[in-house]
Parts: sequence; C-alpha cells; structure tokens
Amino acid sequence: MTGEPQDDCLFCKIVAGQIPATIVRETDTTVAFRDINPQAPTHVLVIPKAHHQDAAALAADAPQLAADVLRETRAVADEEKLDSYRTVFNTGTGAGQTVWHAHAHVLGGRGLEWPPG
Ligand code: C5P
Repeated sequence: MTGEPQDDCLFCKIVAGQIPATIVRETDTTVAFRDINPQAPTHVLVIPKAHHQDAAALAADAPQLAADVLRETRAVADEEKLDSYRTVFNTGTGAGQTVWHAHAHVLGGRGLEWPPG
C-alpha cells in the first residue's frame, strides 16, 4: 500500500537505518543523504520517509509530503552553499528511474548543461 514501508525497498531500508547512508539532513517526514554515485560535487537525494513509488504518486497521494521534499531540496542547497543547482525527479524507467521510492536529486557545484542527456 502506498505510504507503507516496503520490505524490498532500498530507500525504505535507509529510512529504517538498515542500510548505511551519509545523511545530511533529516526532518519528521524526509531524509536527505549523499548519492553513492555522485554526478556532481554536490549530489544529494531527498526522499520522503513514507514509501511512494515515484514523484507522480507522491504528488497525487501525499501533496503535503511532496511539498516537504521540495522544501528540503532548498534547505540542502542552502547548506551546501549552492547559488545554482538542479532538482531532478526521474520518473519511470525511460527517464532513468532505478529506485522505486520517490526521490529528488539535488545536483550542484559545477556547471550543468541543458538539455540533460
Ligand atoms: O533516479 P534514480 O532512480 O536513477 O536514482 C537512484 C539513485 O540512487 C542513483 O543516483 C544511485 O546512485 C542512488 N543510490 C544511492 N544509494 C544506494 C543505492 C542507490 O545513493 N544505496
């Protein structure tokens, strides 16, 4: 069920402390941690603690929580002292989503080209 922890979900395991992660921020509803395969000097993932499979499901089923995640992307950028940064929600296999627990990538610390690959 959406919102409930999933036994087979990597990010639910990070939320539960069952898999290590370098956590940079935590709120009642979100966790932010460094991506293990960083694509920029700053590459942090912001996730809702509750399980929603992607950004679309999160926005539809828990809009307040989606707002919490977005607010945290700004907080991460501030803490990392990023004037410019990119927030990315890969949604669906074709867009590169590999973990089926909604997450925002916060990327910065270098020039970022447009369009992305
Ligand atoms: O958007 P996508 O689903 O591809 O992003 C998943 C991200 O989760 C990847 O950037 C990957 O490096 C990251 N990851 C992580 N820690 C893990 C497993 C994956 O930071 N234990």
